[in-house]
Amino acid sequence: MSLATMSSPHFVYGSHHPEVLKTLLNQEGFRITQQRHKILEVLNAAAEGDHLSAEDIHQKLLDQGEKIGVSTIYRTLHLLVDLGLLRELALSEERKFYELSNPMTVAHHHLICSQCGSVKEFEDAAIVSLGQDEALRQGFSLLDCQFTVYGVCEQCS
Ligand SMILES: [Zn+2]
Ligand SMILES: [Zn+2]
Repeated sequence: MSLATMSSPHFVYGSHHPEVLKTLLNQEGFRITQQRHKILEVLNAAAEGDHLSAEDIHQKLLDQGEKIGVSTIYRTLHLLVDLGLLRELALSEERKFYELSNPMTVAHHHLICSQCGSVKEFEDAAIVSLGQDEALRQGFSLLDCQFTVYGVCEQCS
């Protein structure tokens, strides 16, 4: 993600249309395989604020009767992250989580309950500009800016 696209107008989360995703993939010169499409569909169908791990995606595809190995899922997720279609989230130490992204996405951040693991999303332009400033200062090109806050939610406290 370049600095220019980080400040793009708000992207409406969860409004990704499979055709849009397909076009993006084709633009990148990648053949859209059935499996990549299925993985994108699973993430597209996830509720807003619902973050899925590779294992969650694997289970959902098995439930749909798809025969797909978990190693294929890992490979595909990494490819989709490299293409900028997915955002990889470090929400827990044990596993990575994924959510849809695209060049128009405004980076959002996560508030995590350390008791029940519930995740709330929030946006704050100040955090992103802090990340941008620091990246510039150190000669980095900004790819993503994630700010994660851990606490105990209302239900758990
Ligand atoms: Zn999120
Ligand atoms: Zn909680």
